Amino acid sequence: MPPLTKNQALVLDALSHSGRPLSAYTLLDQLRDQGFRAPLQVYRALAKLVELGLVHKLESINSFVACAHPHQHRHGLVAFAICDRCAQTSEFSDDAIEEHLRNWAAANHFQLTQTIIEMRGVCANCLAEG
Ligand SMILES: [Zn+2]
Ligand SMILES: [Zn+2]
Repeated sequence: MPPLTKNQALVLDALSHSGRPLSAYTLLDQLRDQGFRAPLQVYRALAKLVELGLVHKLESINSFVACAHPHQHRHGLVAFAICDRCAQTSEFSDDAIEEHLRNWAAANHFQLTQTIIEMRGVCANCLAEG
């Protein structure tokens, strides 16, 4: 893997430390002191990090999250459980679902490039708080 640029490293660092999904604008706000001035700088860094598999985009909440296990999974299928109350996000994968979807794609001559599942709901912590 090529070394990250300074901006890419700063964005990845901010996402890793947050532990939660962040929007590009929240990232820009957090990184202003580090010299970020324009949304495009953040978007460029995010695009590369997503391409490298170090960051995932969560379409349903228009935010980005650091990959929970960047050195392990092949990113065949990535699933997220996103809490609507606290934004806590759990990343996991599931071989059975992946195989199921891959079979569907093969049967329908659909060339699969990526599968991202976003589950929305309420996490255990928030449920416990009522
Ligand atoms: Zn991941
Ligand atoms: Zn929660």
